[in-house]
Amino acid sequence: ATPVSIMVGTGRAAELGVLFRRGDALQALQGARVVAFDKTGTLTLGRPELTALDTAPGVAREEALRLAAAVEARSEHPIARAILRAAEAEGVAVPPAERFETVTGMGARAIVDGRDVIVGADRFLAAEGVDLGPVGAAGARIAEAGRTPLYLAADGVALAAIGVDDPIKPEAPAALAALRGLGLHTVLVTGDNAASARAVADRLGLDAVVAEVLPGGKVDAIRALRDAHGPVAFVGDGINDAPALAEADVGLAIGTGTDIAIEAAEVVLISGDPGAVVRALEISRATLRNIR
Ligand code: ADP
Ligand code: MG
Repeated sequence: ATPVSIMVGTGRAAELGVLFRRGDALQALQGARVVAFDKTGTLTLGRPELTALDTAPGVAREEALRLAAAVEARSEHPIARAILRAAEAEGVAVPPAERFETVTGMGARAIVDGRDVIVGADRFLAAEGVDLGPVGAAGARIAEAGRTPLYLAADGVALAAIGVDDPIKPEAPAALAALRGLGLHTVLVTGDNAASARAVADRLGLDAVVAEVLPGGKVDAIRALRDAHGPVAFVGDGINDAPALAEADVGLAIGTGTDIAIEAAEVVLISGDPGAVVRALEISRATLRNIR
């Protein structure tokens, strides 16, 4: 590629809200065979709402909400915000929490009212040796409906299944259809539950799903996709996406996401619109075509 054509291509991209931070990213994107997406905040709005709360027999809804909210009050995760908003909407007083910790890709934990309270994915409870008990079936129903199931436990006993729903971005279906039209293999790579990930992938017509992965697992997924199909573009927004953005042949960060993701990416999509991925690809192809 000549320096001038690269300048013209990156200039046109910038007008469309796509910042190429390096000239060679245009070339890398043009060669991509796979586009892999993070889910939360990338294909979905990243603003989950609490839509279900099923408690174990003898556990009051208010008690479950106040314990969950107490732990999540200290967390930055979008899921935590959803639980706090629900507690606020229902007028639940949130008690203080001590010894808060977050466990990446798993959930959060704190001491509330002297009890050891955890909130997170089923694998978090499994790792802690907590049986899902009577709330397991409610959690499974939440996942099958395409929502994210979480569990609340105190002192080793599961108290509730919590469902959060994070709507798909309105522009996502058209963007995915266009990428398939360009002949790309499209993949969802997420830390979320497998059933909820599958439901989102089916609605958007993605070719494959890799779910329930920790940040390192996203890197492994990128490598496996490259071995199977060729160069990989990865689109993400979160702290947990930074390693995958760096590993990909070209990393595209959602500009509304975290600074850490933006720093790890070669391309920044200024708006949250996943359609910008299509525009970036079209510009990369047009630029490189002009040169040949
Ligand atoms: P994603 O790839 O979807 O951005 P994360 O790695 O942030 O995923 O989280 C993966 C999963 O870990 C979530 O779907 C949730 O089950 C659990 N989790 C992480 N943080 C929290 C939290 N603060 N509260 C509850 N669950 C959490
Ligand atoms: Mg995300």
